[in-house]
Amino acid sequence: MTKGFARAIIRSMRSDAVRTLDHPLAAAQLSVLRAKATPPNEFRAALQQLSLLLLVEAARSWETQTLAQESPLKAFAGSVLSRPVALVPILRAGLGMQEGMMPLVPTASTGHVGLYRDPKTLRPVQYYCRLPAHLAEREVLVLDPMLATGQSAAEAVTLVKGAGARRLQFVCVLACPPGVAELQRAHPEVPIIAAAVDPELNDAGYIVPGLGDAGDRYFGTL
Ligand code: URA
Repeated sequence: MTKGFARAIIRSMRSDAVRTLDHPLAAAQLSVLRAKATPPNEFRAALQQLSLLLLVEAARSWETQTLAQESPLKAFAGSVLSRPVALVPILRAGLGMQEGMMPLVPTASTGHVGLYRDPKTLRPVQYYCRLPAHLAEREVLVLDPMLATGQSAAEAVTLVKGAGARRLQFVCVLACPPGVAELQRAHPEVPIIAAAVDPELNDAGYIVPGLGDAGDRYFGTL
């Protein structure tokens, strides 16, 4: 990608396009993920822990209901989520994010979306899609660690919307300006949450500096 083209994409990205995690614990986990010396077991742990922090940020907008409860000492106004949750990892690296989030939303349902890139058209092609029922009633998070070209993300969101989801957010570890611009072009109303936004997407479709191939590093298939 030429520098001029990259600058044009950055200009086309809304300044409020992505909510990033501005937190020392997130920065520390992200550094573990970026470092090429990090072995798969530590990469897995860091991706799961960072995903938990991303979930906390994504859930900031979820509505709650008040529930009258009693502590051992006094009645208090408790709080429960108003809606059930669905996590939708894009195969395969999104699975690492889903695993990391589940401890905090143990009753969440999980859908799976599998996409590959057609070598001729370079467009994402669906090879698997199984989504939870009643998506319209749920808070839905579509998960992929890397928002790179944005095409898979946009296609996954299209599928999830097509199945009825109304309240959905896209959550990733790293975004880059072309990916953000593409997802916004296709789904301008869908919030994007990322640990950080890196400056570049290289010609091979990798985010730079990035962290390499998230799936290979998570599953130890390098
Ligand atoms: N997918 C990855 O795993 N890494 C990138 O940098 C881009 C897409």
